Amino acid sequence: MKRILIDMDGVLADVYSRLFELHKEVTGELLCQDDVAGKLEEEAFPLQRQWVMSAGFFRSLPVMPGSIERVRKLNEKYHVVIISLATEFPASLTDKQYWLHEHFPFITWRQIVFCGDKSLVKADILVDDHPKNLDTFEGETIMFTQPHNLYLTTRHRRAGNWDEIERMLL
Ligand SMILES: [Mg+2]
Repeated sequence: MKRILIDMDGVLADVYSRLFELHKEVTGELLCQDDVAGKLEEEAFPLQRQWVMSAGFFRSLPVMPGSIERVRKLNEKYHVVIISLATEFPASLTDKQYWLHEHFPFITWRQIVFCGDKSLVKADILVDDHPKNLDTFEGETIMFTQPHNLYLTTRHRRAGNWDEIERMLL
């Protein structure tokens, strides 16, 4: 069975929806995709680092549309491992684990890797939104489209949503 690594933020968790909400709450300004496209999250949202370091931020994120059913199907065909750069933000660790248990209850604790460097984990396929993680991966790579990577040209196959991942992998 092939092993597939699936990133959380920007792939399973819709971080941007929450960042747009918080930005509106704090500044009154309603940003849209075009305002933040091509910028890293911390460039697009000046308070991003403060928010992601707060307890509860990752617990509150909406689920990426279509992801639950597709991960459930992938879980029958592949060895699915959910991977997240979480140790940089200690408050995120329990938030992320409870979030996974709530929304993806079929993912067991053996299938979760919280780390600070994704290149430490070997697998056949990596689905991630950040080129910095995909570039060093030795297997098949799929870049999940998010505003920050919208204009990037890379060697990675691009998936715009979970329908496309289903067509690629299922
Ligand atoms: Mg990510």
